[in-house]
Amino acid sequence: MTTTFSQFRQSASIAIEDIRMQGALEGATSIFVNARLRALIELPDSGPLRDHLKAVRSATLAQLAGHLETFESQATAAGAQVHWARDAAEAGRIIIDIARRHGVTLATKSKSMATEEIHLNRALAAAGVEPVETDLGEWIIQLADEPPSHIIAPAIHKTRQQVAELFSQQSGQTLSADDIPLLTAAARRILRQKFLAAGMGISGANIGVAETGSIVLVTNEGNGRLVTSAPPVHVAVMGIEKIAPTWNDAAAWLALLARSATGQPLSIYTSIVTGPARPGDADGPEEVHVILLDNGRSQLVGTTYEEALQCIRCGACLNVCPVYREAGGHAYGSPYSGPIGAVVTPLLFGLEEYEALPHASSLCGACLEACPVRIDLPRMLLELRADEVEEKILPWPERKLEEAAAFVLGHERLMRFVTGVLRVLQLPLAGNGGLRLPRRLNPAGERQLPALAKKSFREMWEDGEI
Ligand code: SF4
Repeated sequence: MTTTFSQFRQSASIAIEDIRMQGALEGATSIFVNARLRALIELPDSGPLRDHLKAVRSATLAQLAGHLETFESQATAAGAQVHWARDAAEAGRIIIDIARRHGVTLATKSKSMATEEIHLNRALAAAGVEPVETDLGEWIIQLADEPPSHIIAPAIHKTRQQVAELFSQQSGQTLSADDIPLLTAAARRILRQKFLAAGMGISGANIGVAETGSIVLVTNEGNGRLVTSAPPVHVAVMGIEKIAPTWNDAAAWLALLARSATGQPLSIYTSIVTGPARPGDADGPEEVHVILLDNGRSQLVGTTYEEALQCIRCGACLNVCPVYREAGGHAYGSPYSGPIGAVVTPLLFGLEEYEALPHASSLCGACLEACPVRIDLPRMLLELRADEVEEKILPWPERKLEEAAAFVLGHERLMRFVTGVLRVLQLPLAGNGGLRLPRRLNPAGERQLPALAKKSFREMWEDGEI
């Protein structure tokens, strides 16, 4: 996939014109923002806790290989099978091999951005395995045949009415958008059959705890527990950066994850999986497989972009981002949207392919302020823009224009001459209080550039006016 400047502009324009979607986005992100603020106010020492989590994440990444090896040996000792996947294709092959060995034709899935990243549903379907999303938001977008538009709320852009239409089609009943219990009962009825019939459950992993080889799953619906315990085989796909060396480290992570995501002290379910069911256990899978997914992550370790791997995928930066709130998640053309998506997508999947994303930001700093790990997203967005210039990825006219501007700004007499000429050239565009930009540069019709002043500060100083 790609997200060029024109693709981003076009998708964002469609989203901005979509009144229903704007309402859904605005409503949901505002609720998340307010809930997060309340939750942090109520948490004593949330500031120091954020600093502590940042220190933990940073120290973990500095010793990532060692912690992953500890995780592997502890998980293996607990009876799980650990697989290393260099990229999406390898992860898909491993999972399909496991499915084939067990004759699986139906797999239930719990919400997982890592499996979105590797396009696992497509690979499973091609291999004859029906994947069924069981997180309500993920199921909604699977029925709508759309990608997720938010890290924690994949169907954030959908209204109740749209959900009712999808569920009505699926259930064969006419379901009212005003009857939420009826809608959820329909979902439960349909999905319960899938849980009972699935030969494999596939989840992500919010955290992998190295000292016990456990994975932690954070969900608000009971589906995660059914996916990981009802089918005989459980496969968890975990990005290699999601490691916490100890349970103490995981506790700091958990203290901030749900608070930053939805404003909850903890999510409704925090599930811990340590190997398969033991003799005498009432339930649980006979086999647990953990796929440690690299897919470009290890090449960021030790670089100026390593900080992006500290992300705990809470989604707080999306909710506060003025670009995300208008453009919506689909405009990014990646499973990861918003400010963190604008950073990790080009890093993991190619800067040239996703050239527009580092520019999908006003650099207002709201993401940095909201991030529980204080990840400096604006810094990395700027560095990615600089990389585009360095690697000559920006369109030729834009590069030449910027080079010309740099030259003029570096030569004072030339600068005076050019600003004099521009003062004259701007006259046809001058309106009340600013320049009326042509429609092409100003599609929303709201922007005004300030006109060049009659005299520069230097000229006023020289003329004794200040
Ligand atoms: S960058 Fe920070 S705010 Fe954004 S999803 Fe990651 S942890 Fe959350």
